[in-house]
Amino acid sequence: MSDALHRSAVQPEMRMREPGRAAIAGLLAAILAANAPTASPAPDAENGARTWAHVTVLADDSMEGRRAGSAGHRRAADYVAGQFRRAGLKAGGEQGFLQSVPLLEQRIVEGQSSLSLVRGTEVEALSLGEDAILSLRGNFAPAVDAPLVFAGYGLSIPEQGVDDLAGLDLKGKVVVAFIAAPSHVPGSVQAHFGSPVERWKLYRAAGAIGVAFILNPFSMDLPWKRIALTRLEPFMALADPALDQYPGQQLWVTVNPAHAEKLLAGTTASYDELLARVRDGESLPRFDLPARLRATISANLTQPTSHNVVGILRGRDPKFRDEFVVLSAHLDHLGISSTESADRIFNGAMDNAVGVAVLIEVAKRLRAEHKRGRRSIVFLAVTGEEMGLLGSRYYVTRAMERRARLVADINSDMFLPLFPLKRLIVFGLEESDLGADVRTVAESMAIDVQTDPEPLRNRFIRSDQYSFIRVGIPSLALKLGFELDSPEAAIERKWFAERYHAPADDLTQPVDLSAIGRFTVLVERLALRVADRADRPAWNASSAFAELAPAVAR
Ligand SMILES: [Zn+2]
Repeated sequence: MSDALHRSAVQPEMRMREPGRAAIAGLLAAILAANAPTASPAPDAENGARTWAHVTVLADDSMEGRRAGSAGHRRAADYVAGQFRRAGLKAGGEQGFLQSVPLLEQRIVEGQSSLSLVRGTEVEALSLGEDAILSLRGNFAPAVDAPLVFAGYGLSIPEQGVDDLAGLDLKGKVVVAFIAAPSHVPGSVQAHFGSPVERWKLYRAAGAIGVAFILNPFSMDLPWKRIALTRLEPFMALADPALDQYPGQQLWVTVNPAHAEKLLAGTTASYDELLARVRDGESLPRFDLPARLRATISANLTQPTSHNVVGILRGRDPKFRDEFVVLSAHLDHLGISSTESADRIFNGAMDNAVGVAVLIEVAKRLRAEHKRGRRSIVFLAVTGEEMGLLGSRYYVTRAMERRARLVADINSDMFLPLFPLKRLIVFGLEESDLGADVRTVAESMAIDVQTDPEPLRNRFIRSDQYSFIRVGIPSLALKLGFELDSPEAAIERKWFAERYHAPADDLTQPVDLSAIGRFTVLVERLALRVADRADRPAWNASSAFAELAPAVAR
């Protein structure tokens, strides 16, 4: 039975078109044309072209944007599985290289949903899409009518002297809070305690039934109009009730900061003043709001299954090979838009086909060079990142249940090879002794290492490494670095404005193949270095994450 399953799972991948020599030669010709016509391509660009060749498959329109649970994602997963097999990796999933991830998918029926503020007999309708959107990432009740309480930043971090919930009665109420934090709280701490999951633990314990989060207008990756469009796309969660992160939650509203004033009507608070305090990271007042929030929510539910792809390069040292260094990257993206008009496919070339392509090329390079680490290396292409880090959390949970000894995660998500790789941003650099490993490797390649220049964007917890961090596993995430106010910073800003989570993140954008090549080599060297360490990676004593999680099964 399992063998038959196994075979049916592999067949499509064997038929899958692989980028041939011609495709790679074409890419190299393009580099040559772009540079000196007589030069032969540098090895970095050649390596980059090999990596990018996988992107041309994974971000092709035929993959339909690789939404978790879609047929396109499944085709992409089969391609990655086939590449892992060719790279000589051992299958690490439950069906060959694939690990099934059962999902819940919910799509709003907006015509049958509504949101309004109720003050006495007066009912003020809120416009879905303009004033606020309903998030179905958590749980929801079909009808909610509850008092509102404004909790400032809505954080409780006693070690940092922050307790926005002190003295507030949240019982049966909807918590209104800015998704922001006082500026004296370190970025990584803000990021963790400010996450919706950590917030909900707190609010739930205090008896709250829902949340209304006001986005921080000073650190939004996307303009509100683009955020609003996402409300019509499906929301997903892991289907296993034991993995529900939002138990008891009846309502999750995301509020447009441009219209959040409506919630405060009838109070003496000045919204402009509140915004100024948010901008400056100063503490916020907290108070009951005179309005109640009334919601009707209707949604369609389906239960798709999606897949992680797991390949393993067994360690060479019998003493260490049952410890695993994970290289991760998410394979899924946003699928096909139900609203964008001309080009509707979210190809996700940078987000994150190229990260998965790096995994494939690292595996192939290690095989070609006959290299393996003392520890085993897991090559993990996960699903459901865009839907809330679902595939990585599922993988980590199942691995922990098996008491697998995961010792580190090195994640690549949207590393943005838009200019030469001279600097590397390392999320988590100061948090664990993996920081020393990445510094050594980068130095050997004449690459400068820098910490997150924009901690407010919370990127240390916004990709799959966070699924590992939360259970105590030291982790890093890497991307190309730049100095603030440099031409590179401008290039990256432009990329976010025009292509981030947009159909334009496709195969036609300008990329720096040499940067991709160097990044691929860097990940390979870092993986080997961590796999060869004499001791297991450990959090630094100063790290907020050292205390967070139960010790990993040793
Ligand atoms: Zn993304």
